[in-house]
Amino acid sequence: MAELIDGKRISKEIKDELRAEAEKFKAEGKEATLAVILVGDDPASAVYVNNKKKACEYIGIKSLSYELPKETTESELLELIEKLNNDDNVKGILVQLPVPDHIDENKIIRSISPLKDVDGFHPLNVGALLIGEKGYVSCTPAGVIQLLKRSNVDIAGKECVVVGRSNIVGKPMGVLLLRENGTVTIAHSKTKDLKSICKRADILVVAVGKPKMINADYVKEGAVVIDVGIHRMDNGKLCGDVDFDSVEPHVSKITPVPGGVGPMTIAMLMDNCISSLR
Ligand code: NDP
Repeated sequence: MAELIDGKRISKEIKDELRAEAEKFKAEGKEATLAVILVGDDPASAVYVNNKKKACEYIGIKSLSYELPKETTESELLELIEKLNNDDNVKGILVQLPVPDHIDENKIIRSISPLKDVDGFHPLNVGALLIGEKGYVSCTPAGVIQLLKRSNVDIAGKECVVVGRSNIVGKPMGVLLLRENGTVTIAHSKTKDLKSICKRADILVVAVGKPKMINADYVKEGAVVIDVGIHRMDNGKLCGDVDFDSVEPHVSKITPVPGGVGPMTIAMLMDNCISSLR
């Protein structure tokens, strides 16, 4: 039976470490402030924003909330971001994505100061990651690295396969595994013979956005499998991109959904906020 990589426990461990660090900074008169901007009334986005605010409260990060109507224009949003960029008390700015269609998401991402871009989406932070310089790293892939390290999975020299090449998960995931000295393959929808490529992996990270796509035919015996996907099924339950029941008997370690990668994203966002004080 595979060992479960417990994202709930590991994310709590990280949040507790950050809480202790935040207290130390407070004693030195330093406090992190995160500005969270939500445009529109998408219920899922509202839940995410609420969870981020709760995590801030737990750790001791001040959060400023901007809940804007869906009719907010692009220039109004840019104006608010500019104001927050220039406010020295604000250390991090987060615009909950997706924004309504009439707002250009890329323009918004580029308008946030790279020094306050705690989501790690700004091209300057993405570039810094690629050349190994200091900068904010996208939270979900950073969380995957923490899951692996804190579960005593050695990455160096391992055959790592990432399925998916999105800007927020797949690509930064590949770069982070490379930074940890893994031998990395990034697969995508045009990849030929995905099964045999996945079967090579000692560490398989799946961020494909297709419910239960990866079954036992895609995994090597004893591999470590990280499932980034999250989907709500018709019966109301959550599942990942990996068919857990099919894969679990064949691997050494695996993340469950829910309770695997999901909780790590917010923990790493909090880490980025505290790192603004380091
Ligand atoms: P995207 O839809 O942006 O990217 C999916 C990637 O998978 C693309 O690169 C695509 O390739 C590739 N792909 C699609 N179909 C296939 C296929 N049949 N074979 C091989 N590759 C394929 O998704 P995201 O990266 O944003 O998210 C991936 C998953 O992770 C989703 O389930 C999402 O809900 C979840 N997620 C979870 C988070 C968390 O906190 N747990 C955070 C972010 C995402 P191509 O580029 O060629 O189109």
